[in-house]
Amino acid sequence: MLRIDNLSAGYDRLEVLHAVSFSVERDAPTVMLGANGAGKTTLCRVITGLIPARGGGIFLDGADITRLDPSERVKRGVALVPEGRQVFPDMTVRENLRLGAYVHGEPGRAEFDAVFAMFPILAERQHQRAGLLSGGEQQMLALARALMSRPRLLLLDEPSQGLAPKAVALVAETVNRIAATGVAVLLVEQNLILAEAVARHAVVLETGTCVADGPASEMLASGAVEDSYLGKK
Ligand code: ATP
Repeated sequence: MLRIDNLSAGYDRLEVLHAVSFSVERDAPTVMLGANGAGKTTLCRVITGLIPARGGGIFLDGADITRLDPSERVKRGVALVPEGRQVFPDMTVRENLRLGAYVHGEPGRAEFDAVFAMFPILAERQHQRAGLLSGGEQQMLALARALMSRPRLLLLDEPSQGLAPKAVALVAETVNRIAATGVAVLLVEQNLILAEAVARHAVVLETGTCVADGPASEMLASGAVEDSYLGKK
């Protein structure tokens, strides 16, 4: 579904990603694990087109999207739930959702209803300012906003960050429901609880290089990931 092939990227003179290759399949939600600074956010930025690839390619269902504009990628089904959620605090919940749909024009009632069915709390609070929501609710809003663009591929950049365990569990349940609708999921995380709850496939990024790639059950159970790459030993 998503194929990353020998992808390199960076900032100015700093190369952050060095020939990274891996794939995400629709039926195998994938977690990318890596310590702080490994390049996970940079990877999300290259896939969404916020920074250019310096080498290699990005393929969505076989189509080369490496050089497309960010909005064209959204149109083709790439949606990002950014690090730190980045909801617009002074806009209402509904207005935030509306922005998520912008590449397809004005969202209709059906679009809102579909998202509200999945996130009843957002329906209740749709006319409130997003800044008044709790951290967990804001994460739900960030997820819902991404769904408004009708993605085929959902990228999640550390959605557990700053959330209490209960809210992390809710994120896991929600991402699993989204994956069950046929959306491919790439979760970038350091939180192993969320990774275990969501991922079937795991990739480990270490200083911009892919150092491991395999079934999540094996990779997460071995403990090697935690010890070597997340610096928790
Ligand atoms: P974290 O978990 O801390 O978010 P990460 O794995 O997402 O880490 P990145 O944010 O991709 O890592 O950062 C990788 C490297 O790129 C770091 O050395 C970082 O300092 C550098 N970097 C990130 N953003 C920029 C930027 N806008 N300009 C220059 N360097 C950057």
